[in-house]
Amino acid sequence: MNRFLGLIFFLYTVFGFTQHQDKVDFTYADVYVKLLPQEKRIQGTVAYKFKVLNDVDSVFLDAKNMKFGFTSINEKVADFEYADDVLIFRHKFKKNETYSLGIGFETQPKQTVYFIASNYKGEIPVQPGPLGDGSDLAIEFEAVDQIWTQGQGKYTSHWLPSFDDMEEKVEFDLTLAVPNEMQVIANGKNIHTSRNTNGEITEWHFDMEQPMSSYLLAFAVGNYQKQEAMSTSGIPLENYYYPEDSVKVEPTYRYTKRIFDFLEEEIGVPYPWQNYKQVPVRDFLYAGMENTGTTLFSDGYVIDSLAFVDKNYVNVNAHEMAHQWFGNLVTEKDGHHHWLHEGFATYYAYLAEKHLFGTDHFYWKLHTTLKQLQEQSVGGKRESLLDPKASSLTFYEKGAWALVALRAEVGDAAFTKGVKSYLKRYQFRNATVDDFLQEIKTASKKNLSNFKGVWLERTEFPLQQAKSLLISSSPSIKLWYDLQAAQTDAIDYLSYWDATTSVHFRTALLEKYHSSLPQAIYEKAFSSDTIPIRQALFSSPDLTKIFGKDKLETLLEDESYITKELALFFLWQNYPEDREKYLNTTKTFHGLPNKNIRLLWLTLAMLSDNFNGPMTKDYFDELSTYTDPSYGFELRQGAFLYLKEAFGLNEDALTNLVKATNHHAWQFKKFARNLLDELWEDADYKTRLQDLAPKLNPEDSRYLTSKLKTE
Ligand SMILES: [Zn+2]
Repeated sequence: MNRFLGLIFFLYTVFGFTQHQDKVDFTYADVYVKLLPQEKRIQGTVAYKFKVLNDVDSVFLDAKNMKFGFTSINEKVADFEYADDVLIFRHKFKKNETYSLGIGFETQPKQTVYFIASNYKGEIPVQPGPLGDGSDLAIEFEAVDQIWTQGQGKYTSHWLPSFDDMEEKVEFDLTLAVPNEMQVIANGKNIHTSRNTNGEITEWHFDMEQPMSSYLLAFAVGNYQKQEAMSTSGIPLENYYYPEDSVKVEPTYRYTKRIFDFLEEEIGVPYPWQNYKQVPVRDFLYAGMENTGTTLFSDGYVIDSLAFVDKNYVNVNAHEMAHQWFGNLVTEKDGHHHWLHEGFATYYAYLAEKHLFGTDHFYWKLHTTLKQLQEQSVGGKRESLLDPKASSLTFYEKGAWALVALRAEVGDAAFTKGVKSYLKRYQFRNATVDDFLQEIKTASKKNLSNFKGVWLERTEFPLQQAKSLLISSSPSIKLWYDLQAAQTDAIDYLSYWDATTSVHFRTALLEKYHSSLPQAIYEKAFSSDTIPIRQALFSSPDLTKIFGKDKLETLLEDESYITKELALFFLWQNYPEDREKYLNTTKTFHGLPNKNIRLLWLTLAMLSDNFNGPMTKDYFDELSTYTDPSYGFELRQGAFLYLKEAFGLNEDALTNLVKATNHHAWQFKKFARNLLDELWEDADYKTRLQDLAPKLNPEDSRYLTSKLKTE
């Protein structure tokens, strides 16, 4: 997985108790799943094959909240037991024999499969009413137009009887039946698509050739188009997009082929799956998830070319791709070995970025994470990389750092040789941290017990070792540390500025020393055509004293939605006499997928006296509408905040807020609950919320109802 949109919060695998069946080996599954979008229900069958390694009198599968139809062993009807979400078959299974298991099932998954209604557009008439206009019989209609899964941390056994245990690897061939107008993308190769006889259902057949853990099973259903490419080694790359997003395909998927080719070359082991597909989905739980051959990612990364500099998919793209080896091909034995997934995916994504953007970029990224790890350490939250409950910062960033340090210790040749033999030896199986270290030890002929102690076992981050590694590798970071060590009153900042061309150094200089810098540096920064440097100008507390208005207005034209947003607010605030001009110049801008500029614009337009007075209600309605469940939650979050800060929430927005307290994405749910708690403190809002509660469906108002009860 990848952290959610840059936040460090992250759901790592919940390490529930999963029992490993070591006397049987499940090898193959033929899965048929019919999706019923309106009912959010699933009906299916699965036929498993397994080998018996030792006489055993039962086998079991994990299956959550399911009902079962027929069940069979070797095609003969067989009884089952079902308790505590475990499906058990009792039978005298004989050593060295192969068995088949057939299961018909049905479920309404509480999690793991998400039915998304993004085109909710209010009411539709179901049939003409007595007056013939249809309006009196209208019902609320929720059109599910996207369905997607998230297995890791959520358990595939919510939609398929399967294995919560990561050690059970199976070749899963999937068939999904969906309404004709929907399209399916799933693990493996789409070998056949057939319309059912009744003409309303289409079946999509996918073939896998290699085994994987159940948590990597995935499908996405919706309305998509795809861009096709081919890696240098001949692997088909499929980049999916919504039909209306064709101009966003290039910036969104920029460098995909180069990253793929780089990883195959760097890792030295061919990509292990038949194809590689990437699919954006709405309101995803994380930034991305590396399901085998089928990465799903947040459609908040689907961007136009202007947004590329502000927010792009490159790092997530590389991270999930690296997991196809580290996690999917070789899987951790259990959560104690999670470094083998997240540390490696993070590290190889950084290497891919180094390949694309250069060494300065690479080391400054490590410098940034070093500071985060230092803060974590100072804050008393120290974690070993072998602790299955460690935070994402530890697994991802300390994990990546551990690989940087390991490579520095054993050298490039031994490192790459060791990684390669690790992947070869454990391919399509599971491994431990010690299994990996053993391969590096063999390749390098070095004793790694000191490395293991310092980087993996100990809880404190080895700051000094990390710092000296950065200083010896990057001249601009060495310069940065020299600057930190210099006497503040004697610093000739201009000579530092001129001593490097590093954008990262210069940006950091502007951000940290803004009030001490000479005019000459500001002039140089302003005339730079580098977006991050010009953006860093905004950290100066008194920009209007440094530059004239005409000059500052040019910032509105920078090719960055973040610069435009900052500039609009800055100019509006500092030059009230020209508010109308600034608002007119920017009235067509929407900005990033979260509409950062549009939300600000609507707010400023309403706060500006005399600006389009009669339009004010339209602006307010538009801002309110963005809180509706038919929009992505990042946009909704921004709209709620602007409304709360500037104008208050009307009834629609308040209703949408209550609905959001029941959202499937926990970070948005948490945001909504916190905001509701805050409004609850206000007597007026409290009365309105109390009046609202009976009008909402019980599911949506659960959180509100719980607050009412505690009154
Ligand atoms: Zn990951």
